Amino acid sequence: SREVRLVARPSGWPQPEDFEVAEVPVTEPPPGHVLVRNLHLSVDPYMRGRMNDQDSYVPPFELDQPMEGGAVGRVVSSRAPELPEGTHVLHPLGWREYAVLDARQATPVPTRFDNGQTVPLSTYLGVLGMTGLTAYAALVEVARLREGDVVFVSAAAGAVGSAAGQIARLRGASRVIGSAGTPEKVRLLLDEYGFDAAFDYRAGSVVEQLRSAAPEGIDVYLDNVGGDHLEAAIDVLRVHGRVAMCGMISQYNTTEATAAPHNLAKVIGKRLTLRGMLVRDHSDLREQFFHEVGGWVRTGALKYQETVVEGIDNAVEAFIGMLRGENVGKMVVSLPE
Ligand code: NDP
Repeated sequence: SREVRLVARPSGWPQPEDFEVAEVPVTEPPPGHVLVRNLHLSVDPYMRGRMNDQDSYVPPFELDQPMEGGAVGRVVSSRAPELPEGTHVLHPLGWREYAVLDARQATPVPTRFDNGQTVPLSTYLGVLGMTGLTAYAALVEVARLREGDVVFVSAAAGAVGSAAGQIARLRGASRVIGSAGTPEKVRLLLDEYGFDAAFDYRAGSVVEQLRSAAPEGIDVYLDNVGGDHLEAAIDVLRVHGRVAMCGMISQYNTTEATAAPHNLAKVIGKRLTLRGMLVRDHSDLREQFFHEVGGWVRTGALKYQETVVEGIDNAVEAFIGMLRGENVGKMVVSLPE
C-alpha cells in the first residue's frame, strides 16, 4: 500500500520534492478497528498550513509520516461489529491507499438517499461533506444570511464557494456575486451555478469589478481569499454588513509579511468576532448605563480624570494636544461662568 509523506517543510509554494510516496505493508486491524480501502482522498487548502511548523488551529503534519486528511472508502476487513465489511465510511486518514482505523474514527455514509437515488461517495468530501458544511455554516450561522441580502463569495468556483453561492440563492439572497480566477470559471458561475454576476479577479481591480457588480453594495461577504478581496468587500459592504471569514488562500504561500494587521488570518482560527460599532446606535442603553455607571462613579468604584484647558482661545491647542496625547482621561475646555 502506498502513502504520501511530508519529508520537508515547504517555504512558499510546495514543491514535489517536499513529499514522498512510500510503500508500506497492509496490516490487519486489531479488535475494535477496521481496515479501509480508501476510494477518494480530500485535498484542502488548510493542509498547506499544516505543512508549516507553526501553531495553528490544527497541529502541523509530522515529517516522514503519512499526512492526514479527509477520505472515504470501503471497509475491507473488520473487527468492529458496527462496521461490517462493505460499509462505506468517511474518516480522517487520507493520503494513503489503505487505512487502519479505530471504528470510532469512521462515520458510515449512505450511498443512497431515502428515495433510493444514489449519491456518489466522493460528495461526502465536498458538497455533502466538509466544504459544503463550511459554506452552509458560514452563511447561515456566521453571516446570518437573510432573505433579500446581496451576497459576495470569493473563490466562487471552488468547493466552498460554488456551494455557498447556490446556498445563498436557494435561501433567498436577492443577488449573488462571485469572483474567480479565469474567464471559464466566470462563465461557469453564471451559466451553471446561477450567480447573478461574476468577475475574473485577474482581469482588473477587484474593488472596481465588485462595485460595478453590486452598485448598491453588498450585505454579506463570504471570504475565502483575504487580501485584496477582503479589502474590496469592506469598501463595498453596506452599513451593518456581515463578513464570514472562512479562509485567506491568497496568503497561504506568501513568504513576505502582508500588510498590517499581518496576523488577520488568526481571526479565522480563533473564531473571533470583530464588529464595528457607533455609539449612536445604542441610545437604548443610555438609561441602564447611567444607572449602573453613575452608581460606580458615586461610590468611587469607577475612577476618572479630566485634563482641563481653560478658555476658548486655547481650544484648538487642547484639540491638537489631545491628538498628541497631552491629556489623561477626558480632555475638556472649560470656560468661565
Ligand atoms: P477551493 O475548491 O476553493 O480551491 C481553492 C481555490 O482558491 C482555487 O481553485 C483558486 O481558484 C483559488 N485561489 C488560489 N489562490 C488564490 C488567490 N491568490 N486569490 C484568489 N483565489 C485564489 O478550496 P476550498 O473550497 O476547499 O477552500 C476555499 C477556502 O475556504 C480556503 O481559503 C480554505 O482555507 C477555506 N476553508 C475554510 C474552512 C473553515 O473551516 N474555516 C473549511 C474549508 C475551507 P481561482 O482560479 O478562482 O483562483
